[in-house]
Amino acid sequence: MQRWNGWGDENIYLELPTRALRMMHDLIGKGQGRPDYPREKFIKRMPESRLNSHPLISLDPKLRLDHAHGQSFPDWIGLRGGKLRRFPDGVALPTTAAEIQELLKFAIDNNAVVIPYGGGTSVVGHLEVPETRRPVLSLSLERFNRLTDLDSNSRLATFESGIRGPQLEYQLNSRGFILGHYPQSFEYSSLGGWVVTRSSGQQSRHYGRIEQLFAGGEVLTPRGALKLPPFPASAAGPDLRQILLGSEGKMGVLTKVVVKIVALPEKDDVYGVFFPSWERAFHAVQSIAGTDITFSMMRLSNPAETMTNLALSGKGRQRALLIRYLRLRGISEKTACMCLVGFTGSRRLTAAARRAAFSIIRRHNGICVGKPMGNAWKRNRFQSAYLRNTLWDLGYAADTLETAITWDKVTPAMKAIEKSLHDALKPDNQRIHVFSHLSHVYPSGSSIYTTFLFRLAATPSETLEVWKRLKQSASQTITAAGGTISHQHGVGTDHKKYMTAEKGAIGIQTLEQMFNYLDPKKQMNPGKLLP
Ligand SMILES: Cc1cc2nc3c(=O)[nH]c(=O)nc-3n(C[C@H](O)[C@H](O)[C@H](O)COP(=O)(O)OP(=O)(O)OC[C@H]3O[C@@H](n4cnc5c(N)ncnc54)[C@H](O)[C@@H]3O)c2cc1C
Repeated sequence: MQRWNGWGDENIYLELPTRALRMMHDLIGKGQGRPDYPREKFIKRMPESRLNSHPLISLDPKLRLDHAHGQSFPDWIGLRGGKLRRFPDGVALPTTAAEIQELLKFAIDNNAVVIPYGGGTSVVGHLEVPETRRPVLSLSLERFNRLTDLDSNSRLATFESGIRGPQLEYQLNSRGFILGHYPQSFEYSSLGGWVVTRSSGQQSRHYGRIEQLFAGGEVLTPRGALKLPPFPASAAGPDLRQILLGSEGKMGVLTKVVVKIVALPEKDDVYGVFFPSWERAFHAVQSIAGTDITFSMMRLSNPAETMTNLALSGKGRQRALLIRYLRLRGISEKTACMCLVGFTGSRRLTAAARRAAFSIIRRHNGICVGKPMGNAWKRNRFQSAYLRNTLWDLGYAADTLETAITWDKVTPAMKAIEKSLHDALKPDNQRIHVFSHLSHVYPSGSSIYTTFLFRLAATPSETLEVWKRLKQSASQTITAAGGTISHQHGVGTDHKKYMTAEKGAIGIQTLEQMFNYLDPKKQMNPGKLLP
């Protein structure tokens, strides 16, 4: 059962190891857990629905509450602090494309706003209910989730857009295929959501980002159906598939999704590596990213993140042995940088890739500690998200920021982002714990993924104000440094004010005109993506 006011399955609770809690006390002080706002109170004060009745639409207050938010920080404050004020007027759970079509027609006839809802895992306010006089319909794709075709010769699979990660891979893996798209939200996020937010999976270097995996499909727009055939390649003008990618529900409802699939790999290994310093690690990773070595992932943590990861790894004796071993090999735990390096594919190719990558790693004084650390990461790859629940209960807020930038700017940008977060809390005499990693590396640059932790303030409103200051400070720094406002989370409401800096006024107007054509009454997810 999914937790109603936090992340994930309500039966999973991750304890914070004592060492990690002590580290939090030392770095930012003792947190104080705050009482959660009860679900019953939301239900009691749920406003009356403004929607006319329709057999496919439920007005159940619990459903309306569950579809009023995603997983962004303001969403969390809204839910756990009782600040959520706006709810969809109704929720539809269609099971066929014909029902989706009928719901869109109903929305047009009733001048209703439609928010397509995939897995509800957005972390940037994609699902926020806008302030509007019009009724708001949440159109959930949860039950629209079947595999409808698998063409093994063309290596294409067609799904209904609401299918979530585990069900999708189960369908493919049992037939010998894999999509290989693993965002950390894999358990709950949906295929349609991945496509329209331009999501990136943990092994994107091997399998590709979703824009490389997305082959075609169909979108139901208020103007009519837009078909996107899965041509293997085409020179017939601009590719409309690229416009759908990242459209965040504003073009219409993505119904049918065709994706490129591959055979299940023979090998899928992840190795742990430690470097003596950020500089050595950075140069190794940059060098490997610029070659044709076929690695599937490289995730390089800076010293602050390495220290945090070591504190979080519950096993004290193994950790002590590892630190002793690293010291013997000349790596101090204060400057150590941990790197996970993955190889996926055939035995022959992964062996060759491993040899080539490790020869570069050794040249930069990297020490391989073998597969156990990689195996532990594979086992827990979707679990660390649950720590956000634990930290909140202990009185700590946790959020993440991300960007991508060219190699020459990666280290200065990472340092500037971290500094901007520290500086933003200085006037309050508050401390913050900040750490970063590079998780998606490309020949021309890398993503930077920064996590920050701070103490919950006395009231939810004060905590939200602190977060807004941190978010603004870091977002301005990202833009000034020349990074994109998002490498993988998308725009939603939280990033839209930075879009003009990135796309330019003409770019924004082009997008606006296109959405206006497809959605003349601005009914599709208004208030998102565009400033
Ligand atoms: C713990 C956690 C970890 C995460 N890790 C990653 C990560 O590693 N990589 C990454 O890229 N992202 C990550 N995210 C962000 C999020 O999971 C992605 O943005 C994901 O793609 C959203 O998919 P969803 O199905 O949950 O969409 P939702 O959150 O339901 O919706 C997101 C947007 O897509 C629209 N939408 C959804 N389905 C459709 C459809 N069928 N048709 C039209 N519009 C639609 C919605 O209207 C909304 O605008 C993470 C989030 C969390 C909470």
